[in-house]
Amino acid sequence: MIVGIVGGGQLARMMALAGIPLGLQFIFLDPATDACAAQLGEHLCGAYDDAALLNTLAEKADLVTYEFENVPISAIATLEQKINLYPAQAVLASAGDRIYEKNLFRSLDIATVPFASVNSFAELEEAVKTITLPAVLKTRTLGYDGKGQVVLRHHDDLASAWSRLGTVPLILEGFASFQREISVISVRGRDGEMVFYPLSENVHCDGILHTAKSCPADPRQSLAEAYARRIMEKLNYVGVMALELFDSGNELLANEMAPRVHNSGHWTIEGAVTSQFENHLRAILGLPLGSTQAKGEATMVNIIGTIPDISQILSVPNQHLHLYNKKPYPGRKLGHVTRWSASQPIT
Ligand code: AMP
Repeated sequence: MIVGIVGGGQLARMMALAGIPLGLQFIFLDPATDACAAQLGEHLCGAYDDAALLNTLAEKADLVTYEFENVPISAIATLEQKINLYPAQAVLASAGDRIYEKNLFRSLDIATVPFASVNSFAELEEAVKTITLPAVLKTRTLGYDGKGQVVLRHHDDLASAWSRLGTVPLILEGFASFQREISVISVRGRDGEMVFYPLSENVHCDGILHTAKSCPADPRQSLAEAYARRIMEKLNYVGVMALELFDSGNELLANEMAPRVHNSGHWTIEGAVTSQFENHLRAILGLPLGSTQAKGEATMVNIIGTIPDISQILSVPNQHLHLYNKKPYPGRKLGHVTRWSASQPIT
């Protein structure tokens, strides 16, 4: 069985590392000549919307998935006409645009921050009147790791934010004053079966995820699961989905969903009975889903920009290193470390 993946970065790489023991083979479409998943399968090197390469991918693979949502929707639509593709293109259309995504949350009675669509400076000024400051101005599409967003604190910030972002459609969001950020990694099989991992508690630095800690028996688990369940049922979702949430203490607000395996779920490799990567493959292949039960507690820390001393990392008992074989540059995710503990809480 050959699984095609649109994207050949670390998420595709970790999917392949989980799928090879299941007897799967992989083929990746990625424009980067040094795509880090390429070590683990065939690499089709070229643009995501290259018609010939999309054809080859559909011909060679038995089914296709994708590792990130910033793929041209037209490419995914093309693939979906030729081959089984999960999650479906309609999912990507909802998740790839922050306005559609937040409208979906609202329609499902999932609490979220106040928001407004912004297409001109006049609309920005108007939206600020109702949403009030502080607020966050974001691009509707193609934002990730805090890119494509600016926090507006004073009225004076509007003009510079507009000149930075105003060339594309935007969303203005109310600023959530949260106590913590959490996410729920959920899985839905082809037959509609759903399983949920224990929540992750996430710390971001400069908009990039820095640390994700598993939270078995968290008081927010059931509400977070209820939100994810509503979304996956509505979209007839197949695969792993991450839902990122702000916990304000009083309210649980949905920030965004990712229709894929997610950085805040990397701890599941060592910290859960079945990893998010294996469960994504099981879901899209129509296989029984694996247990999401936590094995003790786990904390994952991203390696960003430079690779630290490997010996030092590996000298700590129960600590695991994952390097993605990517060239270092500032702000780039190069790997992660997971510390796992069977019984003791990790500090
Ligand atoms: P996002 O790309 O939407 O996941 O945003 C990246 C990070 O920016 C989030 O994880 C939060 O730490 C912060 N952030 C995003 N949106 C908001 C918001 N509306 N209010 C407060 N902080 C936010």
